[in-house]
Amino acid sequence: MLTSRLTHHPANQAIRLRNVVCAYCGCELNAQNSTKEHVVGRRFVPKGKLNGHWNLILNACGTCNNRKADLENDISAITLQPQHGEAHPDYDDASKEEARRKAASAISRRTKKPVKDSHESMKLSLPFGQNRGVNFDFISPPQIDERRAFELARLQLSGFFNWITYQQDENRGYWWTGGYHPLMMVRRADYGNKILVDFANTVLNWEPRVLGHTAEGFYSICIRRHPNAECWSWAMEWNGSARLVGFLGDGAVAKAITETLGPLRMDQIELGNGDFVRFRAEVSLAPEDDRLFEPWSK
Ligand SMILES: [Zn+2]
Repeated sequence: MLTSRLTHHPANQAIRLRNVVCAYCGCELNAQNSTKEHVVGRRFVPKGKLNGHWNLILNACGTCNNRKADLENDISAITLQPQHGEAHPDYDDASKEEARRKAASAISRRTKKPVKDSHESMKLSLPFGQNRGVNFDFISPPQIDERRAFELARLQLSGFFNWITYQQDENRGYWWTGGYHPLMMVRRADYGNKILVDFANTVLNWEPRVLGHTAEGFYSICIRRHPNAECWSWAMEWNGSARLVGFLGDGAVAKAITETLGPLRMDQIELGNGDFVRFRAEVSLAPEDDRLFEPWSK
């Protein structure tokens, strides 16, 4: 039985686990390979934002620690860049300056160029009927490599799961049973898309096992337990600009729920002569409609 302890934890204190197996890969730790690991990376959020606020600190092997730091590098730089003018409300001048610095130094793993030079352009040519075509040019802001983002999320979830399952007598925590089922990553401008809103409403009455905000709102995490299945929902927000959601555990349960979410609304532009282009517009979310990190109301 897991317990929800973050809500009872003093918001200004670090949680320190003295685990003897790596919280990420489960290998045995010793004096040679053990490192002190901050689950919310100190350089992942803007500098100083974790000062005086909770973080989860545990032991991890050097290999996992390095791998996680590498994932955090470009993902932090990209999530600190506001997209379409949408930024975290507390995105202050120092954070903006740091975002500019990171954009110059961090390399996008998608483009192999610095994040600041990683705007991606895409040409889309669609054939319409005979001898007619339509061309579109898109310029998109720097994009996070989704596979890397979900791997970083998995490591963070492992850390939090180790904490809520921590056995003092064994000096170790455990992982969830079953699979890892990432569902979606969206940027702030699209927080209101139907899948994300449906997800938040569906899991709202599941009891939170972990629910917390730290780093002055630049990091949020929520893990909720399905009322009667070995299944958990999870959600996190990084640097106020990206949300990732998914499930853990019983894949059949996760799949059945996933099939009830959405669909995403498609828009259509008529081009004349019966031709049209379908596309999906981003949907913003009003703060009063935001339920993803809402506390349990039962
Ligand atoms: Zn490890």
